[in-house]
Amino acid sequence: MRMVSIASGSSGNCIYIGSESTHILVDAGISNKRIEQGLNEIGLKGGEMDGILITHEHSDHIKGLGVLSRKHHLPIYGTQATLDEIASTASLGAIDRELLHPIFPDVDFSLGDLTIKAFSIDHDAADPVAYRVKNGERTVAVATDMGHFDSYIIEHLEGLDAILLESNHDVRMLETGPYPYYLKRRILGDKGHLSNENAGRLLSYILHDNMKKILLGHLSRENNYEELAYETVRLEIDEGECPYGASDFSISVAHRDRMSEIVHV
Ligand SMILES: [Zn+2]
Ligand SMILES: [Zn+2]
Repeated sequence: MRMVSIASGSSGNCIYIGSESTHILVDAGISNKRIEQGLNEIGLKGGEMDGILITHEHSDHIKGLGVLSRKHHLPIYGTQATLDEIASTASLGAIDRELLHPIFPDVDFSLGDLTIKAFSIDHDAADPVAYRVKNGERTVAVATDMGHFDSYIIEHLEGLDAILLESNHDVRMLETGPYPYYLKRRILGDKGHLSNENAGRLLSYILHDNMKKILLGHLSRENNYEELAYETVRLEIDEGECPYGASDFSISVAHRDRMSEIVHV
């Protein structure tokens, strides 16, 4: 299985996951042009996608969805409340209702040889989810836009071979930065975003011998930067309770405006 972040960050998200025969996108929050360019770089085309999984309706996750799904008639998967929000987002243009397929948290569904499970996350959207995707014995997950994590989240991120995990902001940069007070509270709140520190703490719970790759993603443009996310997460792992050190794992940062490395598991 392969996983590539075409773009990841508060300005737009689109992650490719696929096997030899089945290809999906998680979110389409950048322009259709950029999505197609990204897919071309890994030898694929938009029309070869088997579906688009949507985590939630915020524009950094759906901006390119209208054009992409219309152009190739691609099915869209999301919770019913997310699909309702998408259907009423005028800026996406008309989306054929037949393309909208409701999925349910904690219930497996299949696309080709991929088995997909959505699970609920706390975020200020209608009914947001994260996804884990399995092919044979391998499983990867995309988990972003999480206000906090608890035992339910940890359980759903166990046994992964690779993960793209939110590492949104540095708490101090956010607190002292230019955002208005209400926005700071929103981001730091239970339905906001996972800080670098919390990403490291969450990883401490889910690291195991076979975790092959950790991509840190959904970095804030104003309140984070790649080196800081990387170093803070590593420090949390090293100083935390888990039996591993950060150097036991391959960790890198998914970029805001270009492709990540290709993760093979
Ligand atoms: Zn969001
Ligand atoms: Zn987002």
